[in-house]
Amino acid sequence: MNILLTGGLGYIGSHVAVVLTEAGHRVTILDNLCNCKVEVLSHLAKILGSSPIFIQGDVRDQVLLESVLKDGKIEAVMHFAGLKAVGESVQKPLMYYNNNVGGAISLLKAMKICQVKTFVFSSSATVYGVPKYLPIDEEHPTCPESPYGQTKLHIESILRDLANSDDAWNIIALRYFNPVGAHESGLIGEEPNDIPNNLVPYISHVATGKFDKLKIFGNDYKTLDGTGVRDYIHVMDLAEGHVAALNYLNKKLPKFSIINLGTGAGYSVLELVNLYEKVSSRKITYEISGRRAGDIASCFANVDKAAFLMGWRARRSLHEMLEDSWRWVSQNMTIEL
Ligand code: NAD
Ligand code: UDP
Repeated sequence: MNILLTGGLGYIGSHVAVVLTEAGHRVTILDNLCNCKVEVLSHLAKILGSSPIFIQGDVRDQVLLESVLKDGKIEAVMHFAGLKAVGESVQKPLMYYNNNVGGAISLLKAMKICQVKTFVFSSSATVYGVPKYLPIDEEHPTCPESPYGQTKLHIESILRDLANSDDAWNIIALRYFNPVGAHESGLIGEEPNDIPNNLVPYISHVATGKFDKLKIFGNDYKTLDGTGVRDYIHVMDLAEGHVAALNYLNKKLPKFSIINLGTGAGYSVLELVNLYEKVSSRKITYEISGRRAGDIASCFANVDKAAFLMGWRARRSLHEMLEDSWRWVSQNMTIEL
């Protein structure tokens, strides 16, 4: 199929581009480069043997999107383009609503005009808010705690309404848990612009020596060792989940589905620190600091729906996630080890 990936030069989209191309699809990427480097394209070409089609542009440019959809004979869209920093969304909510919700609306309008009605959306487990029970299934109540999370929930509502308005739409919102790791080549991976907020990018740069130490945000949670527990999923498993979603959409069974993408297992901060030391053979210095505002003790997914509907389950271990993360950062370091 001809598939448009918005935000396809970013962390997750670039891995999905690899898996879709390897599955025989023709990928077109549209990205405005606000949170990625254009060099990702040449790295994709190294992995794939040729570069995906790339258009530099913004999803809010409806006229451009219509021409991309028509010219590329696009049959399905995977929508990764969006801003994703929770803290920044609290400071700049309008920017987040404009980019994320505004971007989704202009993209969907262009798709409707061009009669492209197969859509996969990058949603997030953050829509659940504080877990009322674990593991979290898709029926769990939603209560996002940040403007970022609200934008995801708003977009899901728009998608549901759209699917109800017209049977021709086939839509899946994938709620990602905690994507980590990198492609096994070490050529593409996560590259935060600023100081990373997320655990694995931060630990990885304690390992490289860029940061002195990790601050562990609390060791007094009701978890096995007191530190926070999350459902980390290898980005390549996540990418394969998108191919499974596309195959499911092509059966034309659902109009709108929401599906968790996680592993179903939770690991603590300390477990990650210890394992990262092993895979990198480097010391991860850390100190225990206070809890981070808004953090929860544990969060992990019920992944039965993905297995039942799409025949997909994550298969890579935490060891592989961290090993691939380390390969990516150690191959791409600009500072001496
Ligand atoms: P990313 O920032 O690496 O990739 C997003 C890409 O979208 C970037 O390349 C950026 O340049 C582009 N972009 C942003 N706004 C755009 C616009 N208006 N027009 C065109 N391009 C635009 O982020 P990611 O980690 O790859 O996340 C992809 C999607 O998955 C996002 O929607 C994010 O909210 C969602 N998500 C990510 C995570 C995570 O932990 N990484 C978890 C849950 C959900
Ligand atoms: N965490 C930490 N130090 C950091 C970053 C994260 O201790 O510098 C902890 C955080 O409190 C949480 C876990 O690591 O328990 C995962 O955090 P991340 O931000 O990666 O994911 P999220 O909390 O958004 O699920």
